[in-house]
Formats: sequence, structure tokens, C-alpha cells
Amino acid sequence: MKAEQRKATRKLDEGAMERALLGKVNGLVAELCKTRKTINLMEVCGTHTMAISGFGIRRAVDPRLRLLSGPGCPVCVTAQEEIDAAIDIARGGLGHNSAKTGTVPRSARTRGTVPVFESCPAPGPAVVTFGDMMRVPGTLTSLEREKAKGADVRVVYSALDALRLAEEAPDRQFVFLGVGFETTAPTVAATVLAAQESKVSNFFVLPMFKTIPPALEAIASSDRVNVDGFILPGHVSTIIGTRPYEFLRDKYHLPSCVVGFEALDVLQGIYMLLRRMHDDLGENRDSPRPRGRGRNPVQSLFSGHDQRPKVENQYMRSVKPEGNAKARQVMDTVFEPCDAVWRGIGAIPGSGLAFRKDYAAFDARSRFHVRNRQSSIVNRKSGCRCGDVMLGVIVPPECKLFAKACTPESPVGPCMVSTEGACAAYYKYERA
Ligand code: SF4
Repeated sequence: MKAEQRKATRKLDEGAMERALLGKVNGLVAELCKTRKTINLMEVCGTHTMAISGFGIRRAVDPRLRLLSGPGCPVCVTAQEEIDAAIDIARGGLGHNSAKTGTVPRSARTRGTVPVFESCPAPGPAVVTFGDMMRVPGTLTSLEREKAKGADVRVVYSALDALRLAEEAPDRQFVFLGVGFETTAPTVAATVLAAQESKVSNFFVLPMFKTIPPALEAIASSDRVNVDGFILPGHVSTIIGTRPYEFLRDKYHLPSCVVGFEALDVLQGIYMLLRRMHDDLGENRDSPRPRGRGRNPVQSLFSGHDQRPKVENQYMRSVKPEGNAKARQVMDTVFEPCDAVWRGIGAIPGSGLAFRKDYAAFDARSRFHVRNRQSSIVNRKSGCRCGDVMLGVIVPPECKLFAKACTPESPVGPCMVSTEGACAAYYKYERA
């Protein structure tokens, strides 16, 4: 059989499998919804959000199965004050008064609640970041707008690109924005180790990382959020494995499944979650519904004799229970856990990464004396409901600004800016 024929046959096979899985998914939804109105599954990863919208999965499944977006888009969860800090550093490189005196002008220091960039040796640093970050609004402005005004803001595809810029221009200072989850942090940590090895002293990182398990804990423990199970991120899980998610079942009695990114992967992951819920329900049919937070009637199953996996793994071809030990070791060498603020959600204990003492020389936050201040007032006034979208409290069209005041061309919040944002996904694929 020729290669093209084989490809076409594979596509047909996949199509048939997708239809078969869809039938099974909808059959399970019908079964489960005999005793409930809806089933709420949260896809934690922005790439899953795009896949679910782009492949038309949300429209294909029984509407009683609600697929809610979670806080897994790295750009979306970057706090407003973190953007402000990056902007403040970028402003330090404008070449106006600050370049001469090493401080920002008085007007900039006192405006609103923007973090203060206190000192900077001239010429100021260049801010280097991924393209998605450029249009994310801070309290008053964005990196894109600051660049248009003359700030030295550059777009790269990797942390290593940023290090190369620093190596090529030893007289300038370069601040790379460390945005992302456990997927990105090891590569940034490896870049810091490479900078140390090469004795590069003009490369810094502004750490804005977030880690996924503490965010899941915040969601699982929240009374505002109604989630029956989690579609877990494939990429993050290749690094951390499946074990850090076991608390979801142990402590919150919620099923979860690590899932890949093809349509078949997503459908199979959903099927595995529903099947688990169905099995649990069958075994627990006569047990009373748990009190308090418990929305999942399976509590009595967890008395120590349940031998089934605590976390389902649909993405076994890439994810091992122990994850990638080498990547984690690199990350843990350079960074340590710290509290972090998630945009629209708030502070989550232990959900960020800060430089360890031995690598403090690379920390842009201390190098440029960036102080954070609360900057949520403007955010609340804007009417943006990104926080509620990322907690699955609403779906994007329920935000009154969606597709009116807020569009990809003129975004009000980061969920509309990022290519992985839930609002951008709905806008692109799911507008009525
Ligand atoms: S539609 Fe716009 S304003 Fe509303 S939640 Fe999404 S990004 Fe925020």
C-alpha cells in the first residue's frame, strides 16, 4: 500500500474510532445523568481547551457534559502586577530621565498602584519574552504599547534565545520573563545553569512561574467551583508524572486523567473519566451521598481497599508515573516553591517558583528592586471575568464583554489575548 493510501486509511480508522468513542461517551453521560443534571469536567490545560473547541468536541458531546476551562494557560494566569513589574523594567530602558539618573520619573512612580522600578544603571535593560505576553494588559498599559513608545522589548521563542542575545551584547542587560508551568520552568532553569557556566552576567530572569498541583488543590477545595473530574495536562505531566495528582482522589474523591492532545486522546480521556465515575457510582449506589463539599458519591470507596489507579493515564506514550526526574532535578536546583498570585484567582500558597539563594544573582526581581503592589482595582472595574472563566464558574460567552467590548483585536483580559486562552478559543471556534 502506498504511503498516501496508508495515510488516508489511518484517517478513516481514526474517524471511525472517534465516532465510536463519541457514542460511548454520550451513552455514559445519559447513564450518569439519570441521577443528576450535568457532569462538569475541567480541562486544566490551555492546549486542551483549544483542542476541545478546535476539534468540535464540545459541540459533539451531549450538552449535559460540560467541559470547563481551567487555569492552565500560562499567559492567562500571569498576574496583572507581574505584567506591571515587567513593564516597569521595560520603562527603565526607555532612555528618558531614568537612563540619566537611574530612576523612573516622579510621575511614573506615583501613578496608580503600579510596582515601582526603583533603580537601573543606564542604559536600561531589554525585556525579552514570548510573543503571547506582548498584548496582555497590565494595570495601565501593555508591553506592546511600551515597545511602541520606545521601550526595548524583544520577542523570542525560547529562554536560550534570550541568553544568546545577552551573550551577543555584553554591554546591555537582558531580563527574560519566566512565564509558564512545570513544562517551561526546567528549560529556563537549564538556561540559568548555562549562563552561570558561561559566566554571563547580563542575563536575568523575572520569575512568574506557576505550578499546577497547588492550583488544582485550590479549585478542588473551593466551594465556588463545581467540578466532577479533571482532564489533566499532558505536557506538565511529562515532567511531574501522575503522582502529584493523587491527592485529588485521596483527599477530594475526585477522578482525574492525564490526557494527550489529539481528538482521539481527548475523547478517550473523557471516556475514561466517565467510566470511572460510572463504576464508582455503581459500586456506591446504596451509600449515602457524602456531606459537606462532597459532590462525588464515591467517598466510601476510599477506605483503603481500592486498588485501582488513583490517577488515570490516557497519555501513557509520553507520561510516566514518576515523570521526568532529570528535568525536575534541574528545576529544583535553581528554583524553590513560593506563594504566587494567579490572575483573577488570587494568591495560592506554594504555587510559584522563586530563585534559590545560590542563583539569586540571576533574579531580576531583586537585581532591579522590583516591588509588587496590589493592582486589582482597575481589573475589577474593567468587568473582565477571566478569573471566573479559569475557575469554570462561567463559560466565556457568559461574560458580558465577550465578543462585544472584548475581542482578539481589542482584548480586555488575557483569556482573549493568549492563543491558549478559553475566551480566544470560544471566539474562534464556538461563536453562535
Ligand atoms: S471575554 Fe474578555 S473580558 Fe470577558 S472574561 Fe474573557 S477575556 Fe475577560
